[in-house]
Amino acid sequence: MRRLLSLLMFCAVPAAADVPRVATDIAPIHGLVSRVMEGVGTPTLVVPAGASPHDHAMRPSEARGLGQADLVVWVGHGLTPWLEGPIDSLSGSAKVIELMDVPGAELLEMREGGVFEGHDHGHDHGHGHEGKEATDPHLWLDPVNAQLWLGVIAQELSTLDAENAETYQSNARAGVAEIEAISLQIADALAPLKDRRFVVLHDGFHYFEARFGIEATAAVSASDADAPGAARVSDLREHLREAGIDCAFSEPQMDARLLATVTEGLSVKSGVIDPLGADIPLGAGHYTALLMSISASFQDCLTP
Ligand SMILES: [Zn+2]
Repeated sequence: MRRLLSLLMFCAVPAAADVPRVATDIAPIHGLVSRVMEGVGTPTLVVPAGASPHDHAMRPSEARGLGQADLVVWVGHGLTPWLEGPIDSLSGSAKVIELMDVPGAELLEMREGGVFEGHDHGHDHGHGHEGKEATDPHLWLDPVNAQLWLGVIAQELSTLDAENAETYQSNARAGVAEIEAISLQIADALAPLKDRRFVVLHDGFHYFEARFGIEATAAVSASDADAPGAARVSDLREHLREAGIDCAFSEPQMDARLLATVTEGLSVKSGVIDPLGADIPLGAGHYTALLMSISASFQDCLTP
């Protein structure tokens, strides 16, 4: 229905000279869309990079961006379940790209339990999770997904705004090459750190880890960022006391007190890692800067 409405509206507009208004969910996605639109226009952002997308309360200005959009680009309801209603009700006839659903996107299952090592990852333990609820929603942290999406975003913008299609397409190609170059650098930088042991505050980095060959030992909260139960916290404490750990990563968007509880009394370095790039300027360079910043966080804390 949305597709049909948008088609009807598109046909009713005499000239498509206006640059499409694009609303995006989180800063890294805003960055990818900005890269595709560079020289043509700028998208709006719904969730500020300093806030957690898992439970953000939209402000009126953020809702306005959604309401005015011709195109909405968002990761999907697994990351921001609260955003699905507003997109339906505010964005009306806008085209919507739900990035989790893009064919060919690399998806990882949510890791179960607080301690990962020794588990058979991606294996269904029969806990009854099904469908998208069991997908780890942080899939922008796999640069291969970002490269795929650049092409999809360029294609959609080219349909909405044929006049600038060549710019969108060449920007997307340049963006893909930039991500490729950064990914090679990161793979080199992280290769010596494969065996280092670290715990994260919430399981938000699995895609990055899997792509670059490092692996979290444990996470305080699961990838949905729900508060962990007492049993999970005490399991973690016990495990880390027995097996040791090199580094514990907190995140700027989240309360780190539970991490301190888990690592209390252990000799462990602490680092900060940011899945959203709160300190990185918004815009076309945001995404590659985010990859570099995450890599630098791992290097800083994990290098012996
Ligand atoms: Zn998260």
